[in-house]
Amino acid sequence: MPYTLSEKVRELEPYDPISGTYEIRLDANESFFNLPDDVKEEIKEIIDKTDFNRYPDPTAKKLTKAFADYYDLDPDNITVTNGSDEMLYLLASAMLSKGSRVVVVDPDFSMYGFYSFLSENDVFTYKKNDELNIDVDDLLSFAKENDADMIIFSNPCNPTGQGITADQARKLVTGAGNSLVVLDEAYMDFWNEPLLKEAHKYDNLIVLKTASKAVGAAGIRLGFAVANTTITKALRAIKSPYNVNMLSQEIGTCIYSHKDMLKVRRDEIVNNTGYLYEQLSKLTDNYHLPMKVYEPHANFVFLETEKAGDIFEFMLENSVAIRWFKKAGALRITSGSVQENNQFLLLFEKYIMKNILKTNR
Ligand SMILES: *Cc1c(COP(=O)(O)O)cnc(C)c1O
Repeated sequence: MPYTLSEKVRELEPYDPISGTYEIRLDANESFFNLPDDVKEEIKEIIDKTDFNRYPDPTAKKLTKAFADYYDLDPDNITVTNGSDEMLYLLASAMLSKGSRVVVVDPDFSMYGFYSFLSENDVFTYKKNDELNIDVDDLLSFAKENDADMIIFSNPCNPTGQGITADQARKLVTGAGNSLVVLDEAYMDFWNEPLLKEAHKYDNLIVLKTASKAVGAAGIRLGFAVANTTITKALRAIKSPYNVNMLSQEIGTCIYSHKDMLKVRRDEIVNNTGYLYEQLSKLTDNYHLPMKVYEPHANFVFLETEKAGDIFEFMLENSVAIRWFKKAGALRITSGSVQENNQFLLLFEKYIMKNILKTNR
């Protein structure tokens, strides 16, 4: 008998968010800023001094300290991974087991369900309300009914940009009893309802952060988990020892030490996102379009429309990549530079003129 792939992986396709090259990328929630020149100069010096023949520090001590300094945390509560994605996989596979019961919410980041699928967890999906938000009491009863081992969701949410307040999140964590709550605060830099600083006070909470969004360093793959020291010890023990390479550790340390630069850029991203939202709302109001634009709490705008697929294709034809959520009938537009956002808005209006208004009249 020849070797055959197991049923579980046979039908899987490699992750490829969008193939092709596009002039404007508003599809992956990255920062539109590349690193500033002075930081790039520092990185050149870092590369000069690197001992490439040595293994990296398995505890990522310097980087942990720089991250802790930036967010005002205690390094003892932090675990560093090769992007948050590595931690998500570890949570599903090593913190949980086959048959563990995981509650996810919908819509939300698809990776939670994916890693649970690979790890053969039993997944229970809580449907969000009409405003695409979580009703905490509802979610708590749902988790109890299904005897959840873990509840995981992003706050604010990717892709909706909606979120629950810190007070609601506290209520969830304290009410969750013996379920582990994983709060993915990948986008919380753009909003201000975090549990990050108090994560260590709970016995059942892990807060996730990443360098891929507000910090503008998706390319070097850095993720951070913040929790009490008992959980942290377990997380540090289950990760592969040399998970974060030497250059990412050094470059990450350098980037997080540029606190003012990071904050100025974050504020600019927030402003640009607000502009994109206002302009989109104006267009949909002025033209009475049957679309719903959600007020963003992250660096992207979520838009429900029956024309999502059409608009997505139209944008691609004009070399602008955005994200289409087929099942939800929605688009997610990452906020870019002012110029990129204006180019998107111009095309959006052009699409409306040509396709929607014409057929409505
Ligand atoms: C982008 C994103 C992450 C970050 O993943 P990395 O592996 O650190 O790049 C984590 N969670 C959510 C919800 C995201 O959208």
